[in-house]
Amino acid sequence: MMQYRNFIGGEWVEPRTGNYFENRNPAKFAEVIGEWPRSGAEDVKEAVRAARDGFERWRRTPAPERGDVLRRVGDLMSERKEEISRVATREMGKVLLETRGDVQEGIDTAYYAATEGRRLFGHTVPSELRNKWAMSYRRPIGITGLITPFNFPMAIPTWKMFPALVCGNSVIFKPGEDVPHTASLLVEILEEAGVPAGVVNLVHGLGDEVGSAMVRHPEIPVISFTGSTETGREIGRICGEQHKRLSLEMGGKNAQIVMPDGDLDLALDGVLWGAFGTTGQRCTATSRLILHEDIHDDFVDRLVERAEKLVLGDGLIEETDVGPLINSAAAEKVDRYMKVGSDEATLVTGGERPKGNGLAGGYFFQPTIFADVKPGSRLATEEIFGPVLSVIKVADFDEAIRVNNEVRYGLSSAVYTRDVQTSFRALQELDNGITYVNAPTIGAEAHLPFGGVKETGNGHREGGWEVYEFYSETKVCYLDYSGALQRAQIDNY
Ligand code: NAD
Repeated sequence: MMQYRNFIGGEWVEPRTGNYFENRNPAKFAEVIGEWPRSGAEDVKEAVRAARDGFERWRRTPAPERGDVLRRVGDLMSERKEEISRVATREMGKVLLETRGDVQEGIDTAYYAATEGRRLFGHTVPSELRNKWAMSYRRPIGITGLITPFNFPMAIPTWKMFPALVCGNSVIFKPGEDVPHTASLLVEILEEAGVPAGVVNLVHGLGDEVGSAMVRHPEIPVISFTGSTETGREIGRICGEQHKRLSLEMGGKNAQIVMPDGDLDLALDGVLWGAFGTTGQRCTATSRLILHEDIHDDFVDRLVERAEKLVLGDGLIEETDVGPLINSAAAEKVDRYMKVGSDEATLVTGGERPKGNGLAGGYFFQPTIFADVKPGSRLATEEIFGPVLSVIKVADFDEAIRVNNEVRYGLSSAVYTRDVQTSFRALQELDNGITYVNAPTIGAEAHLPFGGVKETGNGHREGGWEVYEFYSETKVCYLDYSGALQRAQIDNY
């Protein structure tokens, strides 16, 4: 059995606890991929000591030079793209096409970050006084604690880590415990690209052990978390008490709206990809389909026909459309919603864990669609995080907006229409961080800000230019060259 290690202070080290956990293939749960450290608070303390030294070194490295390291990271990730994608599919389950996309997002993020090292702009503005200069610049903060989920094992860690590094911070990274292998490869690449010792530290383990120790450690002033709203709420409470800077990216209940004037073939392709891609385990997955009553019945019939043709299987096999769920807890959760759904709505396809075609050995679940879902019901409002789509019928676009907005989450939304007024009303009225017109609820681009409103986030964004604000601190500088005591303008008025 291959045993993997943590990466602390530039060395691959065993956990202080001496304990390990197994990582299994969700498509064949009898297959153990390897064992990873089940670290504890002592490992986090050691990582903090290393990251403190790393920070002292890294913050003095010019930002363009830090960017150059990330360019090499992008090159190495490109060279190893296929290998990493296969590793990610084997431990996470989604199909190769999607893990290739996940790795590509990391590559794009690396190259974007590399150039951002030459653009960490501040402002220079006129002073109120004569012979006085006023400007601001952005400085690094310190040790950043990055806690990531299972569903984008490469993209999400890079969304956090690369901007944190370009801004001059050091990093302690705790990946999702279901996807430690991809995380180990990422850190291997950073080491090879020349990130100095202590600048990036990897501590594997469980959320309530390693993650919680990071959140509580007083010398980690910045925490960036992506995961469930429940975990994020608890992390927020602790960070609030310690006045930490915190970025939260959490759950979603994303809707696709289809109007009668939309391209219905396109809308059908969009909802199939949005709802059942990544087995419904994207934060932006389409979990509600809001259909105008004029097209409802026909659209549902066509959707069911297409959903039933999707091929379930091991994501490493090219013909597979839909891979397994991540683990037994996820499969049980989806199963529990079948009972909720049969009480509240009408099951029109799916609803079971398939047993045939060798699927009994993995956490597979049939693409499932419920119709007659009532706005406000549990199916319509709770995040299931599986291949389950709830169809809601509406009479007009005003009702569609109301239904879209009445959930506690607010990540992404989509509308299919050819009408310019409907399009712009959607952009303005749908209460989400991201709205797509004539495209599914998924498909973020690396150079645009990403995040949601309401209980999906806490106001920060990943990606694009905004995330660089999160990982740096504004310093304001005044230089008075008048040679006299100049009182501030407010004292002279
Ligand atoms: P999760 O909350 O179970 O775990 C996320 C990470 O937090 C893991 O690394 C886990 O070990 C760690 N963790 C768990 N308990 C912790 C604690 N008490 N203290 C510190 N860390 C802790 O989430 P998951 O099941 O891995 O991911 C699925 C969830 O993530 C879904 O709700 C999904 O919507 C959300 N998600 C959101 C986005 C977004 O950008 N909004 C992106 C991807 C996933």
